[in-house]
Formats: sequence, structure tokens, C-alpha cells
Amino acid sequence: MLFQYTPIVPVYALVAALMFYLSLRTWTLRPARGATAWSMTMLFCGFYAVGTCLEIAFAIPVLKLAMNRVIYIGTTGFIFFWGIFAIQYSNQARFLNRFTVALLAVVPVFTLCLALFAEQHTLLYREYEFVHINGLIIGRVAAYGPAFWVWISYSYLVFIGSWLLLLRAALRSHAMFRNQIWLVILASAAPLLIYTAQVVGLNLPAPFYPIAFAMVFAGVVMLLAMTRFRFMDIIPVAYDLIFENVKSGFIVIDIKGRVVEMNQAAEQILGSSERDARGKTMGDAFPNQQHIIQEFRDVQEIKTEIALMETGRYYELQIAPLRNYHGEQSGRLIMFYDITERKQIEQQTLALAMERERVRLLQQFISHMSHDLRTPLASMKVSQYILRKELAGQFSDRLESLDEQTERLIEMVESMLTLLRLEEEELGSLFKIDVNELVGYALVRNEKLACTRGAHLHFNPGKDLPPILANREELSLALSNVVVNAIYSTPHGEITISTLRDENQVIIRVHDSGIGITPEDLNHIFERFYRVDDARGTQNGGLGLGLSITKTIVDRHAGTIDVQSRLGEGSEFSIRLPAATMN
Ligand code: ADP
Repeated sequence: MLFQYTPIVPVYALVAALMFYLSLRTWTLRPARGATAWSMTMLFCGFYAVGTCLEIAFAIPVLKLAMNRVIYIGTTGFIFFWGIFAIQYSNQARFLNRFTVALLAVVPVFTLCLALFAEQHTLLYREYEFVHINGLIIGRVAAYGPAFWVWISYSYLVFIGSWLLLLRAALRSHAMFRNQIWLVILASAAPLLIYTAQVVGLNLPAPFYPIAFAMVFAGVVMLLAMTRFRFMDIIPVAYDLIFENVKSGFIVIDIKGRVVEMNQAAEQILGSSERDARGKTMGDAFPNQQHIIQEFRDVQEIKTEIALMETGRYYELQIAPLRNYHGEQSGRLIMFYDITERKQIEQQTLALAMERERVRLLQQFISHMSHDLRTPLASMKVSQYILRKELAGQFSDRLESLDEQTERLIEMVESMLTLLRLEEEELGSLFKIDVNELVGYALVRNEKLACTRGAHLHFNPGKDLPPILANREELSLALSNVVVNAIYSTPHGEITISTLRDENQVIIRVHDSGIGITPEDLNHIFERFYRVDDARGTQNGGLGLGLSITKTIVDRHAGTIDVQSRLGEGSEFSIRLPAATMN
């Protein structure tokens, strides 16, 4: 008789089918964390069930012994892959490398080798017997060898270690993972408990094999984990990754306001670790944020902006109710989205807008004031003229000084109005202008001033200069400002104005042998209201607007102005303007 029958045989066949099915199903979900190891665990469990099923079913001792080897293939493979699975599933895969995997494999491989040649030695079991019980031939170990106890210790070590890892992961994971882990622990604990009872001699006599039922139970629990709790589903893995890696802070609180879970970003934002916060009320969990917690304690739904004083950062705070499957509120989700950069830009834009408005008002004020000053200044000039006539030579010095100061005031007002006009108005019609002619005009205009200041004006006109496109009035004002500055800065010295061509540009160079400008002043002379006081003395000093007017005009003509100077040796201003195109 080859086979013998007992009702436990189909139960083991069912276990094998269940395990192979679970293995196959998990194999297709391999991208999920630990899925490959889990699939292999189930596969070897299946081998174990097949081995046990046939070991019982075979009535011939030699076939029973052969099946014993299949059982060992199943158990060694199963325990090894279970260990790997627990490490991967509890997020500790970084500890898995060739060395640790090989270390984990030593005992199973050694045990399997011993099991394959079990009859040639007594390391695994010293005595194996075949007995007749209730009309069945049963093979069983009468006395275990030392290697068996090593193997059993290793197996328990792996189980205890893996449960600890899984428990730790369960405590740290969010709800969905936590349920999965409980189920995995439950499924693995059931057969192991029965097995332990068997090893210590608490087992029921053959042919009762409670371990088979424990394995059916484990298989059903795992099936439940996969179908109902999305065990090995890629979505919870992705969810977990997103939850942990997003920059926004997330906190889930239950209906009583206690922290259920929070991600790393929330830990950083609120300055409390999840470990400390979990299970506590918001107030206890985040003692540094009392003012915000007070404000939003009872708010169920909101979207608002908050500032965290300690870090100086701004967040969009969103609170939304969480509902269970029945639609009842089961807690709240609190989200912190960092908007600091956006806020900073908003603040800068606001500051800029306010600054623009301030400048606009100031310009408006200067414009009104300058216009208002024009009329009284003109009437002062007239009065001075009449006075001079009537006083016929009397107080001439005083009148002269009065005249000069009035003239200076008029000049200032005109400069301010010119600058404001240049900023507000478009560059009018442009005409082709001969640069030498323009310079000649500026020389004539300022000859008298040069004479009084003892400066000598020279002109080196360039030959065959191309015309430039310019607003004559503006450009001669720009040039005049530079020439006047040179005259004031060069008492009894030489001022040479040269014109030349440089490819498609025309250069007007104003060189003086005057007092020169310090390097610090050089950086600022084109700024509005910047004056080098010593240059003309405060009596005659301008408003510091001349060069900024010149620069504005040159810019408007798509030109450039630069200066080189040495204190005590003189200065050279170069204005470059684009030549008018020939057509
Ligand atoms: P302002 O209208 O008061 O003359 P500017 O804007 O024309 O003001 O000039 C700025 C400053 O640069 C003035 O204090 C002036 O004395 C100085 N400066 C301009 N040109 C020269 C120069 N050629 N040599 C020395 N100082 C100069």
C-alpha cells in the first residue's frame, strides 16, 4: 500500500494551495516594499505544506523520509525569507547587504544540508521511528540531535527579532500600515505557538495536526490583509512615501484633539517629535505653539495664513475634518504649507510700491515748488534791475551779490524742472546733428565763464565724423554741463575738447587739467544731488544735478558717459553716442 488516508491530508493540501496562491499574488505586486521576500516566504510555506501532506499520505517509510527533506526545504527557506521580509517591511532594508544576508543564511543552509543526509548522522535527530497509531503509519522523531536545537533557537530568534522590528514599525506607521502589521504578526504567531507546543510535547497525538489548522488560519488572515487592508499594495507605500517626504507639514488628530500621526515636516515646523507628540492633545504635544493652538482649538475647517514667530516663517494653515466610512467625523487633518518666500516677495513688492509712491509724491512736490518759485524769482530779478537803475551805482557790490544768488536760485529751479521733464517726457523729434558744430556752440556759450575763471578752452575737432541723431537742445545742455564743471574745476588751467570716431560711435572728450576727483567721489558723481563740495566752494556750488541731467540725456540717446580722473591732475569725461545710420 503506497498511500494511507486521514482527513488532515486535504487540510494540508488546502494550506499548500492557499500558500502558493498568496505567493503568486504577492509576486505580481513586487514593487511594493518586502513583496519579493514575502512571496518567497509563502512559496516555501507551500513546500512545507506539500511535504507534510505527502509525508502523512505516504505509507512507505522511505517515501516518508524523502518528504521529510521537502519539509526541511520548506521550513529553512520559509524562516530565512521571513527574516528578510521583516527587515524590509519594517523599513530597515539599509541593513541588508551581502554580508548580513549571508549571515542570516548560514544556519538554514547548514540545517538543510544536515537534513538532506539525516540518516548518515545523528546531529539533527538521534532516533527516528515509525509507529502505528489508529491504523496509520506515523514517522516521528524519538530523540532530537544538537543541530536541531541550534536550528530551533535560530528560528525563534528570527521570529522574535522580526516581531520586534514589525512592532516598532507598527508604532511608527500610520493607521493603514499599522493594521497590516498586526495582521502579519497574528498570522505568523498562530502556527508558531502550535509548533512550540508540539516541540515541548504538548501536542495532541497523531493523526491530529493542529498546526495545519493554524496555517489555514494564517493563510486566511493574510488573504484578508491583502484584500481588505491593502497589504503589499503599492498605493499605501506611495502614500507613506508622500506623507513622509512632502515639504508641507501634516498632522492627523482624533476627535478628542489628540495627535494620531504627523510627518517629518510637521516635526520640523512645530519643533516637537512625533514620538513625543503622539497620543497627546495639541496643547501638550506642541508647548511652543500655544497661541496658535488656542486660536484654532475648536476650528473644524479653515484655510488661513499664520506666522510662526520662533522661526520667522509663514505658513498657509489648512484644517479639514476627517470622516470615517459612515461619514461621521473621526478627527481633523491639519496642514502647514510654507509660504514664506511668497510672503517675502509680497512684502518686497509692497515696499517697492510704497517707495515708488513716495518718490512720485516727492517729485510732484518738487515740481509744484519749482513752478511756484519761478514767478517770484523772475519778479526779484526785475526788482533788482530797477533798484540798480534807481540807486545809480550805490551799493553795487551788494546788488551784484544779490544778483548772483538770485541767478543761482533760478539755475537750481531750472535744473530741477529739467530733470523732472526729462523723466516724464518722451525724447522728442531727433535730427541729424554735426557733433563738431554742437561742441563749437557749447564753447561759444561758455567762453565768457571760462574767461572769468581763467580757464583756457581748446577744441580738437575730429575729421569726417558721421552725424548723430539727437535732440539738439538736450544734447547741448548735456555737453554744457560737463564743460561748465570743467571750467569751475580748472582755475587757470587748460580745457581741451576733442571729437573723434570709434567705429559706429562718435566720442566727445572733455579733458581738463583741474583739481581732479577722488576715487570715492568718482563712484557717485552721476547720482542726483551728489556734490563734491570743495570743487566750487559752497558759495558757487550747484545742486549736484548737472551730471545726472547729462547722464539722463546721454542715456536717452542710447549713449554712454564715463570719466577718468586723478586728484590734483585733472579729469576726462567721454561721451559716446551712436552714429546715425547712413540710410
Ligand atoms: P553740480 O550741478 O553741483 O555741478 P554735478 O552733478 O554737475 O553737480 O557734479 C557733481 C560733482 O562732481 C560736483 O560736486 C562737481 O564739483 C564734481 N565735478 C564734476 N565735474 C568735475 C571735474 N571736471 N573736475 C572735478 N570735479 C568735478
